[in-house]
Amino acid sequence: MLRLPPFALHQPTTVAEAVATLKEFAPDVRVISGGTDLLPNMKLAQTKVSHLVSAKFLDELHGITRTDTHVRIGAATSLQTLAEDEDVRELLPALAYAASRIASPQIRQMGTLGGNISLDTRCRYINQSELWREALGGCLKSHGSECHVVPGGQGCVAALSADTVAPLIAYGAVAEMASVLGPRRAPVQELFQQDGTWHVRIAREELLVAIEIPIPAPQTRVAYRKWSVRQSIDFPLVSVAVRLDVADDVLTGGLVVVSALGPRPRVLTLERLAGSAIDESLAEALGQMVHERARPLPNLPYDAEYRRERMVVEVRRAVRVLAGLPERPLPVPR
Ligand SMILES: Cc1cc2nc3c(=O)[nH]c(=O)nc-3n(C[C@H](O)[C@H](O)[C@H](O)COP(=O)(O)OP(=O)(O)OC[C@H]3O[C@@H](n4cnc5c(N)ncnc54)[C@H](O)[C@@H]3O)c2cc1C
Ligand code: SF4
Repeated sequence: MLRLPPFALHQPTTVAEAVATLKEFAPDVRVISGGTDLLPNMKLAQTKVSHLVSAKFLDELHGITRTDTHVRIGAATSLQTLAEDEDVRELLPALAYAASRIASPQIRQMGTLGGNISLDTRCRYINQSELWREALGGCLKSHGSECHVVPGGQGCVAALSADTVAPLIAYGAVAEMASVLGPRRAPVQELFQQDGTWHVRIAREELLVAIEIPIPAPQTRVAYRKWSVRQSIDFPLVSVAVRLDVADDVLTGGLVVVSALGPRPRVLTLERLAGSAIDESLAEALGQMVHERARPLPNLPYDAEYRRERMVVEVRRAVRVLAGLPERPLPVPR
C-alpha cells in the first residue's frame, strides 16, 4: 500500500492569509483543493512537499457568478457544480460537457476547476511508483538525466491532461491569480509552457483565485471532444476544442485547440479559412490542418500514431456537431 508522507496542513480563511502562507513556505508548499491529483502524486513521491495550503475555507474561490458580459468561476468550485450549473450549461456548453466527462462522479465532487487547470502533467514513465522509476534510472522529471519519450531530448514533454483547458482557451478565458505582490491576470492560453516538470505559469507562491470567461456572441459555436480508452474514468489520450465564429452562415474566424500532446496545448487559428461554409468540407479542412500541425508523442499509454488519427477524427466530429451534420462511423483501424 502506498502511504502519504507527513506534511503540515494550513487552513487559511482569507486570500491574504493564504498567499502569506504560500510565500512563507515556497517552494516547499502547494495549494490543495480537492486533492484528487496532488495526494496520489504525493503517495507516488512524484510531488514532495512539507506544507499544503487548503483552498477549502476561502470563500472568494467558491461559486459561479454571471454578469451581462462574463461568467466568473471560483477556482475551488467543484467539477460537478461546473457540469451542472445552469448558466454554464446555457452559455458555455462545451465547458460544462468537458467537466462532466472528467473521471468519475466521486472525483468530480471533490476535484475543482483550479486543480484541473493546475493538474500535473502525465507520462507513462512518471505516473509510476518511485521504485519503478528508480529501476529505470529516473528521468528529467524524477532524479534522472534522460527523457525516455524523446531520448537525448533536453526537456520533459509529459502531457497536459486536463479536460477543461482546451474549452477554456476556446472561450477566451482569463485566469485571476493572487500573491503577496497583489492580483495578476493572464489569458488561460498563455498559462502553459513547454516544460513538463512545471508547465503552468503559476508560481509556487501564487494562488489561482478564479477564471473569468466572456459570454460568447450568439453566432459563436464551441464543441469539445475527448478520446480515452475507458469512457467512464480515464484521462484524455487526445482532446480537442473547436471554436467557430460565424456570420451569415459563413466562418469569420475561430480556433482549434488540441491538448494531451505535450506540456502545453496547440492552438491553431482559423483566419485563413474565413469565408468557408460551415459544412463537411470545413470538417475535412480542419482535420487536415491538425494532422499537419499537431503530433502526439509516445508519452501517454497508447500508440502515438493511432492518437494522431484519432485527433483528426475528433476534430472532424466536433465540426460536424457544430454544423448540425450527422456523425460518421469511425474508420476501420489499419
Ligand atoms: C482516477 C482518476 C481519474 C481522473 N480522470 C481525469 C480526467 O478524465 N480528466 C481530467 O482532467 N482529470 C482527471 N483526473 C485528475 C483530477 O481528478 C482532476 O484534474 C481534478 O480537477 C483536480 O482537481 P483537485 O481540486 O482535486 O486538484 P488538487 O489535487 O487539489 O490539485 C492539483 C494541482 O493543482 C494545484 N492547485 C489546486 N488548486 C489551486 C489553486 N487554487 N491555486 C494554485 N494551485 C492550485 C495543486 O497545488 C496541485 O498542484 C483524474 C484523477 C483520478 C484520481
Ligand atoms: S516526458 Fe520524459 S522527462 Fe518527462 S516524465 Fe516522461 S520520461 Fe520523464
